[in-house]
Amino acid sequence: MTTLGLIGGMSWESSTHYYRIINQCVREARGPTASAELLLWSFDFSEIEALQHAGDWPALTARMTDAASRLKAGGADLLVICTNTMHRMADEVEAAVQAPVLHIADPTAKAIKAAGFARVGLLGTAFTMEHGFYKGRLAQRHGLDVLVPEEQDRALVHRVIYDELVAGIVREESRTAYAQVIARLVSRGAECIILGCTEIMLLVHEEDSAVPLFDTTRLHAEAAARAAMSD
Ligand code: GLU
Repeated sequence: MTTLGLIGGMSWESSTHYYRIINQCVREARGPTASAELLLWSFDFSEIEALQHAGDWPALTARMTDAASRLKAGGADLLVICTNTMHRMADEVEAAVQAPVLHIADPTAKAIKAAGFARVGLLGTAFTMEHGFYKGRLAQRHGLDVLVPEEQDRALVHRVIYDELVAGIVREESRTAYAQVIARLVSRGAECIILGCTEIMLLVHEEDSAVPLFDTTRLHAEAAARAAMSD
């Protein structure tokens, strides 16, 4: 098996889902007692989110590179960054530790294209919705047309992630607010929605949307499981 190196804890609410989904996939493919070989580095997210909101991306890149080198030294063959936002420095991490990163946008885009969609609405942190690293990869590598919510809606989506979801808080009024943000993206032409933050699946489900949802947590974890079983 390929040994996975998960960089998680961002937040641990979604890392637990990665662990479960990866192992469930391996069990389904290989039998009831089979499971994935993996290592997990789990950050203290309070430190990470403080650096994110201070805009200290160089310090965050150093943290991520340090975690990746520990995982590589522990035997990881393939790195899995268990958050969309922290793919901002995926290329630097890959280059610094000379270990491949399974980029979260790639299995997501593949699934969207296989379903026949081209115009996608993207929900995520402000960093994911506003900085170029994520939308750029979806557009340039995968030819997708990416819509993000308007400014007020982006602020709401971001606030709910950091004030509620990463703390494991799921509020009915936030679900309703997200459903309205999704409806506005659909009215602007989105054919499907990327849940581009690994905690959004805690809150939003198919019944909250008139168009299909693409959950990056599940798609990324399933791709990681396939990679783990690739040799
Ligand atoms: N898990 C989230 C994401 O997928 C947000 C937490 C973070 O900033 O890493 O972007």
